[in-house]
Amino acid sequence: MNQKKTVMSGVRPTGLPHLGNWAGAFKNWVELQKDYRCYYSIVDWHALTSEYQNTKNIKQDIGSVLLDMLAVGIDPEKSTVFLQSEIKEIAELFLLFGMFTPLGWLERVPTFKEQQKELKDKDINTIGFLGYPLLQTIDIIIVKANVVPVGEDQVYHLELAREIVRRFNNLYGQYFPEPIELLTPIPKLPGLDGRKMSKSYDNAIYLSDSAEAVEKKIRPMVTDTRRKRRTDPGVPDDCPVFDFHKSFSSEEEKKEIVAGCTSASIGCIDCKKILIKNMNNVLDPFRERRKKYENMNAADILEPGTRKVKAVAKQTLEEVRELMKI
Ligand code: SF4
Repeated sequence: MNQKKTVMSGVRPTGLPHLGNWAGAFKNWVELQKDYRCYYSIVDWHALTSEYQNTKNIKQDIGSVLLDMLAVGIDPEKSTVFLQSEIKEIAELFLLFGMFTPLGWLERVPTFKEQQKELKDKDINTIGFLGYPLLQTIDIIIVKANVVPVGEDQVYHLELAREIVRRFNNLYGQYFPEPIELLTPIPKLPGLDGRKMSKSYDNAIYLSDSAEAVEKKIRPMVTDTRRKRRTDPGVPDDCPVFDFHKSFSSEEEKKEIVAGCTSASIGCIDCKKILIKNMNNVLDPFRERRKKYENMNAADILEPGTRKVKAVAKQTLEEVRELMKI
């Protein structure tokens, strides 16, 4: 009997994936493949919740995200990789759950207000945007996932998902398992300028960047401003280059850099060289694996996963309709 628990997670196809996406999600997804039955979805409907006015690149972005997922080591033989919008049952279950999910529950989601402030230039006063935590809940429960890998900032969404599941179970009978979070520490991986790594800030290192491109981006990075001259000591914790070292360099190297930086015995150029080497050591296997998949058709890669999820989702829907007596 297969005792493996089911994991579900998704990625929005909104531009080329970067190192922040790898550190915050993909790296962990690859690990989880060993011990869990994993469903990984490219959630294109979620992309529409904030990008509905700008859909021209969405198909291309789905291809890029898929290729990078495979390049980092998500294996379609081990995990079920699929495209959300191919599973129309998700839309039907979302509609049914919309009937009994109280508006107030969605309005009090902290990220709802935060994002409305952050994305001021976008009109996201929409049903789609308000409903996205419900859509996330549906993504999880339609395959009866028990475990969802999340960072601290997503814990509230999982609490909400459980509340919604409980409401269904109370109204129509115990059916859905309550998903639990698998808290994953997400390392701080800022962009090249110290702000959050993001395509829109033009400060990202992409998973598809060549070794030369990585070098070109790291070399001009601003370091701790105390190090005006080579002889000035610095404080690694105030340096965005060191933030990268935390994720890419060994303990020993980090110790040496701290000692070298604070005593000015290492220069920033040498420190960056170590980082470039280590970062490319991580990215090189991705580059190799990418070659295997880059000429393949995205639809062909997604087809088996889509077929599998469709069968599971269909059955869930049939049982839900029966419980709801519709
Ligand atoms: S030596 Fe390294 S950690 Fe120190 S300021 Fe220069 S780049 Fe940053």
